[in-house]
Amino acid sequence: MKRILKVCLSSVLFFLYRTIEPWCRFSEVSILAYHSISNAPLDTAVTSKMFRTHLSRLKADGYSFISLSDVVAYQGGASVPCKAVALTFDDGYADFESAALPILDEFDAPATIFVMGDEVGARSALGNALPLLNADALARVRAHPRIEIGYHSRTHANLGKLSGSVLEDEVRAPFVARYFAYPGGNYSAKAVDVVRVAGYDAAFSIKRDLVRRGKSRWLLPRIVVLKDDGEKDVVRYVSMVQHWYAMFRSLIKKYV
Ligand SMILES: [Zn+2]
Repeated sequence: MKRILKVCLSSVLFFLYRTIEPWCRFSEVSILAYHSISNAPLDTAVTSKMFRTHLSRLKADGYSFISLSDVVAYQGGASVPCKAVALTFDDGYADFESAALPILDEFDAPATIFVMGDEVGARSALGNALPLLNADALARVRAHPRIEIGYHSRTHANLGKLSGSVLEDEVRAPFVARYFAYPGGNYSAKAVDVVRVAGYDAAFSIKRDLVRRGKSRWLLPRIVVLKDDGEKDVVRYVSMVQHWYAMFRSLIKKYV
């Protein structure tokens, strides 16, 4: 029942959006969160072919690719293109360099990758055996003019369950990082405070919504892209439909 309501609501909102879009100038700024760009049998792994299709479709639909710095500036009042998408990649998989980066270069698209500090410690939390970027690869990626490296905790721990020095140890990056992504999207008020005090410029959760001005920059929403998401799904994710849907959902949460 919930699934039917979800599909119906989403379809109605998208129809409404397409109908009024020619006369409206919506501010649509969003952040997509990818993981592995590969054929790996993971829910979050997107193939190279599909990733290129996503970027092509976004570009064809008038979206500009912007950096997280642009998003944070927008959140603080600066202007960015009214249809803009920032791309992020979580967990620091090695295929970022071999598969994602060449495609990002085709589109001159900036991106931020979020890596962990302790690969051995993080492996069990990740639950897969995909290779991560090693130190040499990270250095090459760091030198790329459009790629930034953010922190994703030391061991990919559930920060919502930690406190004290253990929490601080997970949050403190072993390198200079401006951005932090909560592992698994898990956080607590305490974790947000520790991230803020640690000196990051902004932090990112996982929530299906557009970035809106006036919200906390320690909990900026990102939309996770999944294996089965096609080009139409991604266009819907970054459109005003996603924000309307998020508002509707918070209003009638128990039904959708
Ligand atoms: Zn992660």
